[in-house]
Amino acid sequence: MGASAMVRVRDLHKSFGATPVLRGVSLEVAEGEVTCVIGPSGSGKSTLLRCVNHLEKIDAGTVEVDGALVGYRESGGRLHELPDRAIARQRAEIGMVFQDFNLFAHMTVLENLVEAPIGVRGLSRKDAAERAREVLRLVGLPDREDSYPRQLSGGQQQRVAIARALAMRPKVLLFDEPTSALDPELVGEVLSVMKELAVGGLTMLVVTHEMGFAREAADSVVFMDAGRVVERGSPAAVLGAPRERRTREFLDRVL
Ligand code: ADP
Ligand code: MG
Repeated sequence: MGASAMVRVRDLHKSFGATPVLRGVSLEVAEGEVTCVIGPSGSGKSTLLRCVNHLEKIDAGTVEVDGALVGYRESGGRLHELPDRAIARQRAEIGMVFQDFNLFAHMTVLENLVEAPIGVRGLSRKDAAERAREVLRLVGLPDREDSYPRQLSGGQQQRVAIARALAMRPKVLLFDEPTSALDPELVGEVLSVMKELAVGGLTMLVVTHEMGFAREAADSVVFMDAGRVVERGSPAAVLGAPRERRTREFLDRVL
């Protein structure tokens, strides 16, 4: 890893009020690699992702994406929060896929996909539409550009959400339990799209309860509990031969 880290989180601390939620989290995602974050509910996984794209302000530590501090600039040895416009520019490089899709319900699939490339990236409508069709093919929905979200299954909506993120050509794509809201029979189609993206070299940081996905697609697995990284390593090591008691107890519950 080292110099090739696309995402680098160092000693991240975050509290809500008096409640510490992240208590010194460090991790790296190398360029082109997939890191899966697993752990019990409430361990801080979503908060970690939200800190990576500065949807949450952090209390201490640093987040870097592609070598640049996220949300702050350093001067005189201190961190100063960036203005909103600069943060928006950074977020354009950091895609996020949520559990509940977050598509714009009143827009067609194509409109969902061209909105940010036109508004944020400054693409022409024609170029944005071309790019949208390209990413819809990637997620296996080439014929759905005129559909509205409500006309699609949950699995299709989540694939549109992934396509929408990809249309921005992000440096890294964050996934927060992307299959947790889906009926069981729709989980596979979303995971197989994610596996293709992984094979294709997209840098991904994925919070998931899908241990099969972690085993097959992850380069690295991080187990979090109570706001800390308890254990990290290859999927074979963390899932197959965990060293820490808390990891074993968690895996015994979910596997
Ligand atoms: P996970 O995704 O691992 O389930 P979260 O990051 O969502 O965990 O939450 C970790 C803890 O932080 C939980 O106890 C949760 O209640 C708390 N928390 C998360 N977001 C907020 C918030 N905006 N305000 C107050 N508490 C929060
Ligand atoms: Mg969560």
